[in-house]
This record gives sequence, C-alpha cells and structure tokens, in this order.
Amino acid sequence: MEKITRRKFVKVVSTKAVVGSGLLGLSSCSKQSSKQSFHNIQTNKSYKWKMITTWPPHFPVMGEGAEKIAKWIEDMSGGQLKIHVYGGGELVPALEAFDAVSQGTAEMGHGASYYWAGKAASTQFFASVPFGMNAQQMNAWLYSGGGLELWEEVYSAFNLVPMPIGNSGVQMGGWFNKEINSINDIKGLKMRIPGLGGKVIAEAGGSAILSAGGEIFTNLERGVIDATEWVGPYHDYLMGFHKIAKYYYFPGWHEPGTVLEMFINKNAYSSLPDHLKSIIKTAAYRSNIWMLSEFETKNSEYLQKLIQDPKIQIRNFPDDVLKKFRTISNDVIDEIVSTDPISRKVYQSFEKFKKKISTWSEYSERAYYNALTL
Ligand code: CA
Repeated sequence: MEKITRRKFVKVVSTKAVVGSGLLGLSSCSKQSSKQSFHNIQTNKSYKWKMITTWPPHFPVMGEGAEKIAKWIEDMSGGQLKIHVYGGGELVPALEAFDAVSQGTAEMGHGASYYWAGKAASTQFFASVPFGMNAQQMNAWLYSGGGLELWEEVYSAFNLVPMPIGNSGVQMGGWFNKEINSINDIKGLKMRIPGLGGKVIAEAGGSAILSAGGEIFTNLERGVIDATEWVGPYHDYLMGFHKIAKYYYFPGWHEPGTVLEMFINKNAYSSLPDHLKSIIKTAAYRSNIWMLSEFETKNSEYLQKLIQDPKIQIRNFPDDVLKKFRTISNDVIDEIVSTDPISRKVYQSFEKFKKKISTWSEYSERAYYNALTL
C-alpha cells in the first residue's frame, strides 16, 4: 500500500495537481480501457447464465437480493447477460451450490461463505466470526484492507471468484425459553446455532443442534431444542419465534456482521468481455449496500413490534456470559488457525485489521454513541 506523506497529500489536494496528475491520469486510463473493450462490445455475444442460491425461493432480503442483482446485471448490460435465479433446492440442494458452481453446473451462486467451512476452514473468516467485525468494518477490510484479495485467493483453489453482495448487520443473540443469568445456564442447553458460535455453545457445556430453517419452529415448540438463533427481528418475526419463546437475547455476539456472497465460476467469468465483468462488480457493490440497508430498516421496524409484545422479554446477555463466550471464541479460533496455514494467513490479516479499526471506532462510533446518551 502506498504511504501518503503530509507533503504528498498537500500536493494532491491542490487544484493544479489534481488537474495535472489525477484527471489526466484518469482520462488516459479510460482511453486505454475503452479501446480494449471496444472489440468486446462489438461481438454482441449474449450470455444466459444460471444463479443457484442457498435461500428458499424469494426469501426476504437474501432471496430478493439475488433476484435484484440478476435484474440489475441484465438491465446494465442491455440484456447481453441474462441470469436465471434458482432458489435453494430448485436446481441443486442449497448446500451443494458451492460445488455446483465450482464444477460449472451453474455459472453463479449466492450464499454465505461460512457454509463452506467443511471444504476450507478459512472460508468462515469472510462471512462472520464470533466477536469479529461489524458490517462497516467487514466492508472496510474486504474492499480497502486486503480482505477481498485473500478471499479471491482462497476461492481460486475451487475455481471460483467471490464477491461480497450484502451484510446482515449485527444479528440478535437468539430465542430462549429460559433465562440466561450466568454461564451455568448454558450447561445442558440445546440450541440451534451453526458454525463457530455453535462450537462456543458446545464448549460452554451446551449442545449445538443443526437444523434447517424449516424445522426450527417445530423443534423449539416441541422442546427438541431449548433455544435458537436465526437472524434479526425481521426474519425472526416472520418465523414466529415470538409465539413460542419468551426471552429474546441480544447482541448476536456470534454474528456481528455476516457478509453475504456471490461466487462465480472462474472459467465463465474469464470468458466474459471486460465491460460485463465490470457490470457484475458494480452490481455486487449496489447489492451490498441494498441488502444492508434493507436489513437495517426492516430490523428496526420489526424490533418495535417485538418491544410492544407483552408476552416476550428482550434481554441483554449478562456481561460475564459475554466475557466467557469471548474467551471460548478465541480458543476455538486459535485451534483452527493453529492447524490450518491458510486460515492462519487469513486470520492474521483479519485480526490485524480488526485491532486497528477497533481503535478508530473507539474515537468515532463509540464516542458518538456515548455522546448521544449524555
Ligand atoms: Ca444467524
């Protein structure tokens, strides 16, 4: 990364220098790229692609996001690249999307990278890890802090090109049918919680149960599980958990800002003309901000409904429970990075960035939130 000295910065912000170097640099660059892509546009070859998703068809926010990105790409390309979106299970089972796109059964997939932890442990650092970074920080790491390059390196081994296309924001901690007053209340608790969060619950003496979205309500209602996490107020409300569980805990320590992804078969992507590649990348950025905005807006609306529901109580996890979860999370992550060199490389970048940006957040976000409550 280029080091910017004060003198250089002052030079860059002076108008003369901007016109002299920046704008001229830009125009010569665009001249070159328009020359390159001219040939490509002239080919007029049209493409019909398939996108397979890990979500049920038309699933709120995530499924809608997949349909929107396909439409934006089609619109921007003037119909040159058309993408048909398949819900999970329509073309291949939801959790086979990664392999199917890798092998070229479909050109694109839509999911979250921690689903593929069984294929490469390092993938989960690009989605969310307990006590990791929030949405804004994850975007900063991926786009500006070297995270996306590492993600591309990891997926390249699977013949895939990844792109962030959304973020859930901070999730909720989950629904419980008993109070959590100390870490001892986790002992014997049967909770539906996937991924690293599940490992933490198991280490704390509970059991992490994996069940597909469609089974969670019945399992909680029948006592097969005592607790479940899902997403946030909007998705949780739609699932109806408030009708069968009394306590809704926050924060979602296990998913502080889960990145949603699009992955593209590398051969298919390489075969595209440059302007279509650029359209896909641009649509991915648009989708990223659209999904996060949608999560934030809908979660805030549905939280109000839940706050007004007299049958449920919304609680903060006690401090000592969160502290214990954090200690265990660090152990769980240490174990992964000590046995897998690629995870170690990715996590070193993640953790270094997190430390740096957390200090900045103290001076910016936290100080500002504190100021609001004075
Ligand atoms: Ca979740």
